[in-house]
Amino acid sequence: MKWREAGELRWLEASLPSASVCFSTRTGGTSKAPFESLNLGILTDDERIAVLMNRRRLASALGVDGSRVAMARQVHGAEICFHEDGQVRPHFLEPGEPPPDADGHLTQAPGLPMLVLVADCLPVAMTGPEGLAMLHCGWRGLAAGIIGDAAGRIGATDAVIGPGIGPCCFEVGEEVFEAFSDLGPGLRRDRNLDLWKVARRQLERAGLERVETAGICTYCDERNFFSHRRDHGETGRQAGIAWID
Ligand SMILES: [Zn+2]
Repeated sequence: MKWREAGELRWLEASLPSASVCFSTRTGGTSKAPFESLNLGILTDDERIAVLMNRRRLASALGVDGSRVAMARQVHGAEICFHEDGQVRPHFLEPGEPPPDADGHLTQAPGLPMLVLVADCLPVAMTGPEGLAMLHCGWRGLAAGIIGDAAGRIGATDAVIGPGIGPCCFEVGEEVFEAFSDLGPGLRRDRNLDLWKVARRQLERAGLERVETAGICTYCDERNFFSHRRDHGETGRQAGIAWID
């Protein structure tokens, strides 16, 4: 994974076999505090016009067609949308009717960008012979099996895990540790859960051969990332976005 810049925009770029993956940061946008500045979440209390301008900036910097971006209303579940080429997708640039509820996206169509919004949850992208998946992974979605489901559907071999809350900052209740007790020891650091490792173990169990982790904590890196927990819910959203080359 490497850092890329265009103007004031910064993002992390990763590559998967025959797919591109980017993880946006909060820099280079137009939103004011507490959403400064590249907030991509329209369901925050930010100005809608600023969010739409930010989305256009990101699409332009990444060279993706904003009118083709697939997204969903995320509900911390394990539902995965399959996207065909040629569908109309107004949600990214002209949000009106809410998109369907889902936390994962899957496609076999080249050049069709799929986007998840995050601010501590993990954005996870994976590829295999049957397609590409982009997932929004909070602990509930991980516990509900979203990674194994996506991996099985595309025969995933390679994955990247983007920036998200780290084991340094993710204090959770006992019920959350219990939800992952089948994954074996080493996930706990005092009262904190290592969500990066949870995702990695689930990917490995699903048979993936190569998994790259950004290893960047959104809570710790305030300069680059929004963090729902650090900012007590009053914050913006960054994105994970992936497409087949
Ligand atoms: Zn941290």
